[in-house]
Amino acid sequence: MKPLETVRSEILRSVQRLDTETVPFNESLGRVLAQAVVSGEDVPHFANSAMDGFAVRGVDVREPGALLAVLGDVPAGQVSSVSVGDSQAIRIMTGAPMPDGADTVVRVEETTAEGDNVRIHTVVGEGTHVREAGGDVRAGQVVFEPGLRMGPVHVGVLATMGVVEPVVSRRPRVGVMSTGDELQPPATRDLAPGMIRDSNRPMLVGLLEDAGAEVIDYGRIGDDADELRAALGRAAVETEAIVTSGGVSMGDYDVTKLVLRDETEVDFIQIAMKPGKPLAFGHLGGTPFFGLPGNPVSVVVSFEQFVRPALLTMQGARAVLRPQMTVAAGERLVTDPAKIVFLRVRLEGDGAAVRATQAGGQASNVLSVAAVADAFAVVPRGVETIDAGEPVLIELFRSPETREHRYDV
Ligand code: AMP
Ligand code: MG
Repeated sequence: MKPLETVRSEILRSVQRLDTETVPFNESLGRVLAQAVVSGEDVPHFANSAMDGFAVRGVDVREPGALLAVLGDVPAGQVSSVSVGDSQAIRIMTGAPMPDGADTVVRVEETTAEGDNVRIHTVVGEGTHVREAGGDVRAGQVVFEPGLRMGPVHVGVLATMGVVEPVVSRRPRVGVMSTGDELQPPATRDLAPGMIRDSNRPMLVGLLEDAGAEVIDYGRIGDDADELRAALGRAAVETEAIVTSGGVSMGDYDVTKLVLRDETEVDFIQIAMKPGKPLAFGHLGGTPFFGLPGNPVSVVVSFEQFVRPALLTMQGARAVLRPQMTVAAGERLVTDPAKIVFLRVRLEGDGAAVRATQAGGQASNVLSVAAVADAFAVVPRGVETIDAGEPVLIELFRSPETREHRYDV
């Protein structure tokens, strides 16, 4: 049995970087930047007010009780035609450009109107409540480095700078197929005896898209060597990676193994991990091929550990592994010391004292438990038990559900 790390680095070393393309910035969500984003201008573009209040000269408000003459108003989107002189003020709204002569904003709450004048009750330091030009981003600044995977906030930042055509990696075209004579379409009403619904394929489509892939679905392939050979042959020319589920272990009907065992460029690997011990990996006509196990939880774990990092590497992502952190075990965890074990756990408690407890049964066919888990507990080889309260490493493979919020009525 090979260690997970060894297998993963072999896979990541063997995949190729995809070429790049320019996309409209508002379609860049989930894409990996292939070029640094440099701002052509200052953000904000001009000095403006952070508050609703009065634009003044700092020298005029060094003592409480100053009385200033109000010259007019400047709302957001307009520019004051007059400048602020000695003992003068202009009423200003949040986001409005600072009038010439003014260097400070006094919040409206710290003032009272006295006819055409305004009384300033407080002492306000020079420069207060002014957002300087370039205070967010400076012209010429490298704002995002290549390798960043774009999230919604990054899209927002591109908009602030007017960077509307980022250069990103192309999305990998990935073919997916499931194998097994027992697999029926999920919409099947009455399953014949021995049949199950094909759950791996729709799940893999989602996992792949989440990893940035454009998916080509080759459907369900029976346990038939010719059928699988034909589908793999097509996928090898039409796609940039192939993912199958099922048929890679020791059974007599393991069709993936049957078809590919003589391929010199495909290895049937036994990995010291649980779930997900069997994995086929290699190249078919130059196209990376991942033969995942059939058990649905093994599919999730193997996908997370091998396929996702490989697809992100192909896209040039800087970070290809999920975040890990240490929390406390919420109960005694017992695992197989011969393998790295991924337990599906729930996280409980607030940020100061998070505890991981098993989300339910840990068998590799129990998909519903993987769905309600917040994370994997990652128990390394050589460790058999982790007692309640002891540190345990977790890997966040999805965003935990948002915190519940109850309103007391
Ligand atoms: P295999 O590796 O092909 O022997 O499959 C291992 C287990 O996973 C068997 O119980 C299969 O029925 C199940 N399985 C295989 N493919 C799928 C699939 N696409 N959806 C759900 N379960 C599957
Ligand atoms: Mg099978």
